[in-house]
Amino acid sequence: KREDVPVSVHGIDRSLVDQRALDVVHTLKQAGFEAYIVGGAVRDLLLGLRPKDFDVATSATPEQVKSLFRRAFIIGRRFRIVHVVYGRGREHEMIEVSTFRAYLDSADAEQVSGNERTSKGELASMKHAVDASGRVLRDNVWGPIEQDAARRDFSINAMYYDPESQVVVDFHNGIRDAKKLTLRMIGDAATRYREDPVRIIRAVRFAAKLSGLGFKFDAKTLAPLASSHKLLADVPQSRLFDEMLKLLQTGHSLASVEQLRALGLNTGIYPLLDVVVERADDPFVKLALQDTDRRVGENKPVAPSFLLACVLWADVRKGWSQRLQPRGNQRPPPAFGALQDAVDEVFESRIGDVSGRGKLGADMREIWMMQPRFDKRVGTSPFSLVDQARFRAGFDFLRLRAQVGEIEEELAHWWETFQNASDEIREDMVDAQR
Ligand code: ATP
Ligand code: MG
Repeated sequence: KREDVPVSVHGIDRSLVDQRALDVVHTLKQAGFEAYIVGGAVRDLLLGLRPKDFDVATSATPEQVKSLFRRAFIIGRRFRIVHVVYGRGREHEMIEVSTFRAYLDSADAEQVSGNERTSKGELASMKHAVDASGRVLRDNVWGPIEQDAARRDFSINAMYYDPESQVVVDFHNGIRDAKKLTLRMIGDAATRYREDPVRIIRAVRFAAKLSGLGFKFDAKTLAPLASSHKLLADVPQSRLFDEMLKLLQTGHSLASVEQLRALGLNTGIYPLLDVVVERADDPFVKLALQDTDRRVGENKPVAPSFLLACVLWADVRKGWSQRLQPRGNQRPPPAFGALQDAVDEVFESRIGDVSGRGKLGADMREIWMMQPRFDKRVGTSPFSLVDQARFRAGFDFLRLRAQVGEIEEELAHWWETFQNASDEIREDMVDAQR
């Protein structure tokens, strides 16, 4: 049942709402459509957190939305949404606008199999809306707002905020659950995990994010969580990889590891995530996770390549030093080549499943391969190293190594100074090394 909750009850501070989101909602409403800020932004506003992005949900179709804004792009085929873009270049921001979608549970989806209500309301083909295990495969059937709410995951993620009337529309007791600090899945939790097993990982993520505020799982949401994790086997690796990154890069990586352990999900979600959980107490990895959380908290950018390079560094080091081990009276191979081989081996054994992500892999490789170059502080080498595009990442990595005592503090300090120094000072620093 729908509840329209006034500001006197929910207390959201409208001044925390992004100006562009206000503009999008206003424009859509002026054109006669329903439009609300929705999802995570409403949850965060309600909890007094600053939302990281603002999504809008509307009764307008993607085409109708697009026609109302100068710079708006329809994204995706499987899940059609509109990006409304503001500003240019580095400063550009976008608001994601999605049309209210119908909730197709397994039974409904079978019924409409072969029928899809399109944007104009007529019926079109929609085959295989749900696969054999009950996963919803198609998600572009428009529907009324109450169905849009029902298809969402947690009650606190399913509220709609109209910044103009300042009303929060709440269909699933999201406000009550927010007050009770309860993370509750809408509907039957086991069914909802089956429909989309990624919700299991989302549950971990929100539990981690909100545990600091005292949030706990509702019992029925928690009960099927751990036993449902086998369902993740059917989820495409790329989606699991993306969800892993959200666990690790949204500012709550240590809390996420803690949740995974507490829930008995420490293995089996995704191979690389297993490694992270296993190594989270290793000083170097722990420092990397802490550093990532801190940076996100300070609104600084974080790169998945950096964190993953940290997580797998132990393997690279091991392979590297094994190769440098003297064997009989054979000369050890050159250090750089040995590192290269060790890196290749780690890619082979650990990250075969992200091979599609060329840039990510290339960046990790670069961070690792840069490490021995920091030892060369004479000649022109330091000058070309600081000019390298990925220098900063390589240096940050070096600094973490110094922090755990793997290398001399002095080396990291030298590079810190060198990179910020004038050419004259740099020459002098290199001179002093001879
Ligand atoms: P964050 O602050 O981390 O972005 P969020 O709640 O905004 O959290 P998103 O992944 O941005 O999370 O998704 C936006 C909204 O879409 C969610 O709040 C939820 O209502 C809905 N949603 C996203 N993914 C799913 C899913 N797998 N199943 C059901 N609803 C989902
Ligand atoms: Mg979001």
